[in-house]
Formats: sequence, C-alpha cells, structure tokens
Amino acid sequence: MLERNDLDKTSDNSLKKLKKRKFLGIFFACCSVYARIYTNDSGKFYEGRCPTCLRSLSIRIGRNGVKDRFFVSY
Ligand SMILES: [Zn+2]
Repeated sequence: MLERNDLDKTSDNSLKKLKKRKFLGIFFACCSVYARIYTNDSGKFYEGRCPTCLRSLSIRIGRNGVKDRFFVSY
C-alpha cells in the first residue's frame, strides 16, 4: 500500500503522485506536527498517520463532504 510512503515523505514526489487526491491539513497535537491526509481508495474517508508517531487517523467524509479543511487531532 502507499499509505506509509505517502506520509513518511511530505516531499514534492509524493505530492505529484497524489495530485488528483483531495487532502486535509491536519495538526497532530500528539506530536505538534502538521501533516496532510488523503482520501482512501473508496473516497469515503480521509486516512493518514501522524508522521512522527504513526498514529493512524481517519475522518469520515459525510454526504456533504468535509467542510473544514483543517483539523486538529488529539
Ligand atoms: Zn504523533
């Protein structure tokens, strides 16, 4: 799966690969780091991991989508 690579590298490479995917900006309060998480294959969730402690995070995309573009994960 590409999950791990996506989040280990917040480089231009991974951004190009994921150009078509929507993402959310997440502030991981556990490690005080900012990262992006992307939609999964089904398009029903945003999924990602804290780049530092690798804690997983998923946010369900509702019928109307996610309005907020930025979240804080506690
Ligand atoms: Zn963390």
